[in-house]
Amino acid sequence: MSAGLPPSADVIVVGAGNAAFCAALAAAEHGASVLVLERAPEEEAGGNSRFTAGAFRCVYNGVDDLRALMPDLTDEEVAKTDFGTYTEEKFFDDMGRVTEYRTDPDLCEMLVTRSKATMLWLHQKGVRFAPIWGRQAYKVGGKFKFWGGLTVEAWGGGPGLVDSLTTIARKNSIAIAYGARAMSLIADDDGVKGVHVKQAGKTVEMRAKCVVLAAGGFQANAEMRTRYLGPGWELAKIRGTRFNTGDGIRMALDIGAMPTGNWSGGHAVGWDRNAPEFGDLSVGDNFQKHSYPWGIMINANGERFVDEGADFRNYTYAKYGRVILMQPGQFAWQVFDAKIIPMLRDEYRIKRVTKVRAETLEELVQKLEDVDATKALETIRAYNKAVMSEVPFDPNVKDGRGTMGLAVPKSNWANTIEQPPFEAYAVTCGGSSTLTGL
Ligand SMILES: Cc1cc2nc3c(=O)[nH]c(=O)nc-3n(C[C@H](O)[C@H](O)[C@H](O)COP(=O)(O)OP(=O)(O)OC[C@H]3O[C@@H](n4cnc5c(N)ncnc54)[C@H](O)[C@@H]3O)c2cc1C
Repeated sequence: MSAGLPPSADVIVVGAGNAAFCAALAAAEHGASVLVLERAPEEEAGGNSRFTAGAFRCVYNGVDDLRALMPDLTDEEVAKTDFGTYTEEKFFDDMGRVTEYRTDPDLCEMLVTRSKATMLWLHQKGVRFAPIWGRQAYKVGGKFKFWGGLTVEAWGGGPGLVDSLTTIARKNSIAIAYGARAMSLIADDDGVKGVHVKQAGKTVEMRAKCVVLAAGGFQANAEMRTRYLGPGWELAKIRGTRFNTGDGIRMALDIGAMPTGNWSGGHAVGWDRNAPEFGDLSVGDNFQKHSYPWGIMINANGERFVDEGADFRNYTYAKYGRVILMQPGQFAWQVFDAKIIPMLRDEYRIKRVTKVRAETLEELVQKLEDVDATKALETIRAYNKAVMSEVPFDPNVKDGRGTMGLAVPKSNWANTIEQPPFEAYAVTCGGSSTLTGL
């Protein structure tokens, strides 16, 4: 037996992200001995969960539900905030709308109806939560107003979530083996009996009564991405861990599991054009550039190519990475003027950002690397003329301040790009996760 691995366990969980730890804690609660196998070394452990902001979408019917989850909320904080509600109906509605009614009905029902209870369960286990003041609420009339249903985040974001789950798992006598890659399932006609595990160059057989696969998707595997998502996807950057190469899915398919889900789909966002190939924990999700609904995006041809203001960023950002990947050269520039620059999210102010700044539009378009400058200037001028400036701009609602008469319309938050200084940020496609299951 390999040095890092216990001789046996009732339950083996493959992976050490949020899903894996939740499964491990649930199994331990029922008295099972549990072993977590993590392919990554300890310093890179935690999968994509560690790269997240730790933001959780869950049902709440008012501030009392939020207080149960976040007892640290003070009366003063409650008084200065309009949390609104996020009802089951709204959550179902969002799931339907965003997936174009292709969400798996049973899984969706479980996700929505158990979201509140599961968050409370995590809180009772010791995970701490806080409201997402900075990113999901804006101050209007002296009060923070939350919008879009994404109100709660884990303390310390994704790294905080994984650290806290790891500590809680250890307290619950769950064994964790790092650098331990599950290679294949041991199965016969009666079902799964264990896994083959490779650790420190040695492969061993580990038997268990139950194996839980929580090894993420195949987004970090360029070959599988291109095979299933299509040509060009090998050129996408990966926002998170380099360890999610589809092992769990492959192992299960190898023993005859049924594939399900959206094999050619993926969650992908606008991500700094010069970000590294995989995520970098020192930057986390700050390579993303999510203030595009307030500005415009221009491709290599100098043209706009998508309705930047079709909906709140929560409902468009996961789709627009693919749209950017399909542009010539797989990139776009997000363009803003002085009116919007102070409103840009924090991720626009990091050191490792691909940004240009100019005092005139003529100078700006010259600075947009790899872009047809003449056409870009034409596009910005035509856009400026088309903005319905008589409708007031309001970032907290879909304000209907759109454009008139453009081939690619902008439906909300259309602000003219005319007040210097101007800034532009180069983005490419940052792949987050694939959407397949078993
Ligand atoms: C930058 C970024 C930001 C995000 N922000 C949010 C957010 O704020 N809120 C949100 O809800 N979602 C967010 N997401 C999505 C979120 O990360 C995932 O939905 C979630 O973390 C998936 O959890 P998981 O446990 O299934 O997978 P992961 O956390 O990816 O865990 C997979 C685990 O399996 C391990 N593994 C892989 N292969 C093997 C093997 N063969 N043997 C052993 N172990 C293996 C990996 O090392 C890892 O530990 C974000 C994603 C990214 C990339």
